[in-house]
Amino acid sequence: MTAAAQESPGTGTADGWIWSRHELDALIGHLAAEGYEVIGPTLDQGAIVYGPIRGVNDLPAGWTDRQEPGLYRLAQRDDDQLFGYAVGPHSWKRYLFPPLTRLSIAERNETGWQMRRAEEPIPRYAFLGVRACELAAMAIQDRVFLQGAHVDPVYAERRAHALIIAVHCTEAAATCFCTSMQTGPECQSGFDLALTETAAGLTVTVGSDRGAALVRQVGGRSANPGERATAREVRQAVVGQIQRQLDTDGLRDLLLGNLEHPHWAEVAQRCLSCTNCTQVCPTCFCSSVAEVAELSGDKVTRERNWDSCFNLDFSYMNGGLIRNDIRSRYRQWLTHKLGSWHDQFGSSGCVGCGRCITWCPVGIDITQEVAALRQEVSA
Ligand code: SF4
Ligand code: SF4
Repeated sequence: MTAAAQESPGTGTADGWIWSRHELDALIGHLAAEGYEVIGPTLDQGAIVYGPIRGVNDLPAGWTDRQEPGLYRLAQRDDDQLFGYAVGPHSWKRYLFPPLTRLSIAERNETGWQMRRAEEPIPRYAFLGVRACELAAMAIQDRVFLQGAHVDPVYAERRAHALIIAVHCTEAAATCFCTSMQTGPECQSGFDLALTETAAGLTVTVGSDRGAALVRQVGGRSANPGERATAREVRQAVVGQIQRQLDTDGLRDLLLGNLEHPHWAEVAQRCLSCTNCTQVCPTCFCSSVAEVAELSGDKVTRERNWDSCFNLDFSYMNGGLIRNDIRSRYRQWLTHKLGSWHDQFGSSGCVGCGRCITWCPVGIDITQEVAALRQEVSA
């Protein structure tokens, strides 16, 4: 009988358990057998992205990422860590709030047009490798999609079934600033299990009854005091790696009180309005709805697609555009993300993941733009 079968893994006990890769592989197999679609980090398209995984061999062992404003490169590590990277261009929102969703279908028959909801199977996801900033991003999207006056049924169904296996960061990118946003690098809540990768294996913290049941199924053994101490040290060491900062003191009022500041025009000289920053952002949620007709003229599908406040058409209303230059579109993004989001949802809309900095083709850096505006206003 395994140690896990003899003892009961307690919810909330940090690093109570330890797994080898064999147990992690067993977990992935067990989840698949239970009907979960297991999504995790994998090497593809020259990056570490999220996709379906079938075992430990699909994880990016021995790889890491190097990130700077406007730059992302894979690099080989000098060890074979499974989770020794920061975050890539994907976020979990692509699974909970998909880039394209079929909402409804209208079909013409002998009696006229019939409308019905597009019946899509509800996926049952198990997310492996969720970082602290990404847990914070999910909590923000929960507020947007679930906790307002109008609950989004597509998000609600996917979120209700999702199992979260978090991984504490052991490597920060140069673009990370989660410490400024108080979202990381350590996972605090919102997970079923949280893993820390050390030379001895993967320590396991149980965060829910579902997580405890999984540990009982998979096995493993109790972590000893030395292994727990090492896991704590590994997590603490990452804090020192995070150099980028965003000064959030009075930030909402600074932004909303300077809507006509010349700095917005200066950023607009560099911004391409390409939408990359919004597409990679784990909290951005703008979408639009289109009706797509088949050539026969007998069937029309209503689809929801990700959209962006950087798209010209996104501000079209009442016969005109209200944000017809890049200056106003960049200002809208930044002032909403860091300012009016507080009024709307009770928190910042930024978790400090740094994706918008890395994937901006001209390297516009949200932390530097805020610092520049702050400096110019106080000069
Ligand atoms: S605004 Fe940038 S740093 Fe903040 S959550 Fe979005 S992508 Fe990450
Ligand atoms: S800030 Fe960068 S990523 Fe965002 S729209 Fe402008 S050019 Fe594109």
